[in-house]
Amino acid sequence: SDVLLDVQGLKMYFPITEGIVIQRHVGDVKAVDNISFTVRRGETLGLVGESGCGKSTTGRAILQLYRPTAGHVYFDGVDLTELKGEELRRMRRRMQMIFQDPYASLNPRMTVGDIVGEPLEVHGIAKGKAKLDRVAELLEVVGLNPYFVTRYPHEFSGGQRQRIGIARALAVNPDFIVCDEPISALDVSIQAQVINLLEDLQAQFGLTYLFIAHDLSVVRHISDRVAVMYLGKIVELADRNELYENPLHPYTQALLSAVPIPDPEIEAKRKRIILTGDVPSPVNPPNGCRFHTRCPVVIDICKEVEPEFKDAGGGHYVACHLVH
Ligand code: SF4
Ligand code: MG
Repeated sequence: SDVLLDVQGLKMYFPITEGIVIQRHVGDVKAVDNISFTVRRGETLGLVGESGCGKSTTGRAILQLYRPTAGHVYFDGVDLTELKGEELRRMRRRMQMIFQDPYASLNPRMTVGDIVGEPLEVHGIAKGKAKLDRVAELLEVVGLNPYFVTRYPHEFSGGQRQRIGIARALAVNPDFIVCDEPISALDVSIQAQVINLLEDLQAQFGLTYLFIAHDLSVVRHISDRVAVMYLGKIVELADRNELYENPLHPYTQALLSAVPIPDPEIEAKRKRIILTGDVPSPVNPPNGCRFHTRCPVVIDICKEVEPEFKDAGGGHYVACHLVH
């Protein structure tokens, strides 16, 4: 099958409790609320939305770092939500994560050799000299000096630290990597280098990416398809060019209207769609379409009936009552 990852009806709720002695369950943060999508082998699926929309939670729930409240995560045909212990560990080895903040995700007291080599030890692949040899090799793969194995994270720049994080993710030869805003914390001048590195590695090792970002401009270059999330739901998913040239969901249209266009003439004539109001709380999301409190083209039915997420043609999925 050309599908590597198949996410079906994924829900990730975090319970809210009140009380000190006796804890009462008073509600749930519905961080991810019934989303379905696939990622094909060798592709990059961009996952975009404002902070708090559930995109990082989605990445973590796929990797079973959080156990989903409901739904299924099929990886290479195997439902990860059914696995535990050694079976899960074996599948998890094929899936890795690159984090947003290379400063926070690297232990400052560990050498680069131990940081990058840790997954090799955890999975019983290599230790000692064999581990350090493999780490030196991985450092070269990500464009760093192999002699860095004995040094510490604080000795490196943000871009170099992100390369260390990438080397660590590659250590166990994964098939799939969740890239959780891997360039958001980096200087603009470094961002393109890291994107190019990720693309080179994808081609070299046949990697499949879920690439999370809060901005549509970031994923444009790297994605084959793009999914847009709002308040725990995927509202639109399409091939990259289709999504940028023919956005169908009012939320995607608003996000795109905020992306600057390099051509000043087009930029001057462009209409910005300014969304008013705050994103509602994921504890009590609005009825009907969750975007209805901010949608510039809302109609009556939107307040009552949730729009179905369906194919508007050619694999362009959208959840909006105005799109048929
Ligand atoms: Fe706007 Fe209604 Fe479409 Fe939701 S369903 S995006 S509120 S038009
Ligand atoms: Mg996040």
